[in-house]
Amino acid sequence: MLVLKNCNFLGELVEGYENATGDILIDGDRIKSIAPCGTDWEDAETVDMAGKYVLPGLFDLHIHLTLSGGETLVDNAKSPVQQALDAVKFANDTLMAGFTTVRDVGSSHNVAIELRNAINAGNFPGPNIIASGKIVTPTECGNDFFAGLYNEADGRDAIWKSVREEMKAGADFIKIMGTGAVMNPGGAPGQPIYTLDELRAVVEAARFKDTYVATHCHGTQAIKNSIIAGVRTLEHASILDDEAIEMLKDNDTTYIVPTLNILHGLADSVPETSIFMKAKAQSVLESLRVGIRKAYEAGLTMGFGTDQGATPLTHGENADEFTLRRDFWDMDEMDIIKQATIDSARIVYKDQDYGTLKEGKVADIIALDKNPLEDISAFKYNLVNVIKSGVVVK
Ligand SMILES: [Zn+2]
Repeated sequence: MLVLKNCNFLGELVEGYENATGDILIDGDRIKSIAPCGTDWEDAETVDMAGKYVLPGLFDLHIHLTLSGGETLVDNAKSPVQQALDAVKFANDTLMAGFTTVRDVGSSHNVAIELRNAINAGNFPGPNIIASGKIVTPTECGNDFFAGLYNEADGRDAIWKSVREEMKAGADFIKIMGTGAVMNPGGAPGQPIYTLDELRAVVEAARFKDTYVATHCHGTQAIKNSIIAGVRTLEHASILDDEAIEMLKDNDTTYIVPTLNILHGLADSVPETSIFMKAKAQSVLESLRVGIRKAYEAGLTMGFGTDQGATPLTHGENADEFTLRRDFWDMDEMDIIKQATIDSARIVYKDQDYGTLKEGKVADIIALDKNPLEDISAFKYNLVNVIKSGVVVK
């Protein structure tokens, strides 16, 4: 057994224990007990946290482990084996950045599914990976820009077939394209590309396999259609209007997962070969600022996503999203931290085991040597420990 002594806590992230400080007893991969500092733990191995801020491990609900953050065309030219080997490193970089659970929302050749299995088997260090496999998409211009990433399906029957193929490959959930993409040449981010009936078919097929749908979705009409169809997460949700926000209020089926890191990054700087992405990102940036701010003011629960791996976002730099959310949307620090922990855990049905520090939950824990409520960039610059499933990995 392992004891983390003299921890500082953020109260809203600890359940069943009231003090602002305490010790955490870890037995195997679970938290066995949280008790006041100074408790006699007899012969357990101890680590003195010396007042560090100890939090549950972070969630990133939107990454791509087969993309490197560099030139997309270079990534596409890699063999599937090379992509898989690179993904092993990217997964470790992500874990070392404090992100102990990630959702891979589209990997070429289903690499993230195989990597999830290898990490779960203990063969490589890495975060918990919730993987979609390939992205189910209609026939669309730009699809071929990402080799091996898409499973094209038009109409109900083909959609059911594609969902079944991804589930057969081991997907945890289904990712679809609901609108054109900033990163696909020719794709129009505002434009719906699946019909409402097709969206309903994806949701029906996913629910038939006891899982849910995540929709890549920038434009307003596709956002509304996705809500009506009953998808679980609206990825990006860049162009929300008041009606869409109203549809999401008190809605416990559908949640938004904004990804500010990517749109900010693309609008700022991209490689020469990806220059078409820059103008598209810039065109949605103001809508993104207004829409998500309104959603925040309306009290919507939202997930924490980045699109790490997409150009120009390097794996392991996920924590940039914290500072961006505060500066761009003027969000409260504690709210952002909850988005990256308990809120994301709830959205992807993982809050039984993750998202807070609580007796019985999995011991995925991070420590910062600075209070993140005073400086939210502490997640990037002051991360000193990472514990995954009860094992100190950093
Ligand atoms: Zn993405």
